[in-house]
Amino acid sequence: MQVTDHIHALKVPFSVTTPQGKIPRFVYVYLIYGEGICLIDSGVASSEKIIFDCLEKTGRKPEDVSLLILTHSHPDHIGAAQAVKRATGCEVAAYTAERAWIEDVELQARERPVPGFFSLVGGSVKVDRTLKDGDVLNLGKGLSLKVIHTPGHSKGSISLWLPEERALFSADAVPIVGDLPIYEDVLESARSIKRLRALDGIEFLLASWDDPRRGEMAYRIMDSGLEYLQRINETVRIVDEGSRDLDPMEFCRRVLKELGLPETIANPLVARSFQASLASRGN
Ligand SMILES: [Zn+2]
Repeated sequence: MQVTDHIHALKVPFSVTTPQGKIPRFVYVYLIYGEGICLIDSGVASSEKIIFDCLEKTGRKPEDVSLLILTHSHPDHIGAAQAVKRATGCEVAAYTAERAWIEDVELQARERPVPGFFSLVGGSVKVDRTLKDGDVLNLGKGLSLKVIHTPGHSKGSISLWLPEERALFSADAVPIVGDLPIYEDVLESARSIKRLRALDGIEFLLASWDDPRRGEMAYRIMDSGLEYLQRINETVRIVDEGSRDLDPMEFCRRVLKELGLPETIANPLVARSFQASLASRGN
């Protein structure tokens, strides 16, 4: 789907493994057509086929991809990075704090086990360029991409702002109401959403787990993401006060139930988020 003159959005379907079987999901990958082509995230393993199909349909070829920015190291963002790098020879860029898990996916699988990890991730890839908050990447054709550090979902999560097209690539920084709440630090996550919310004149909100949103809707999505985080935190507090010392998975199921979400989506990553909410209460 072409979003603006220079941006294409690709919806990549995949499935995640749960005790109840596989459930369908999707993740967005974005392409910015500048002097070369800049890819934002790579999708899961084998997504390169969808990316290269898109290039062909628009009269371009894999070698035109000059830069792959990984917004963070989670499997649905880096899964095809190794294959993309091999086929295109592009530079790979990410925030410093995400580097270890991108360059060593076995380490990531040990430290943050996701069910079906190796069906989602094709392999490790070297990060050629580390990014920091405020960096501006010149994409040619008058396009510049500004790096905004938006931690919370993960330590080194970044968002990217393309002012010439008033497009904000928010990756997983803004939680989607009713979807799996995944964060490492709830206070940082809230601060990051507020920081993005403060950007003036966003015309396109381009997230990984949501369809592209335009105009006022972009701001409404950020507001509701923030409210969702606050509601989760409050629910965690109530469940904790009602029954102390539950094991993390049982605690996770109770919070989900209180939130009106299906308990079947309980998994160790969601449990980790709620434990992070509990830990933040001491701050
Ligand atoms: Zn993520």
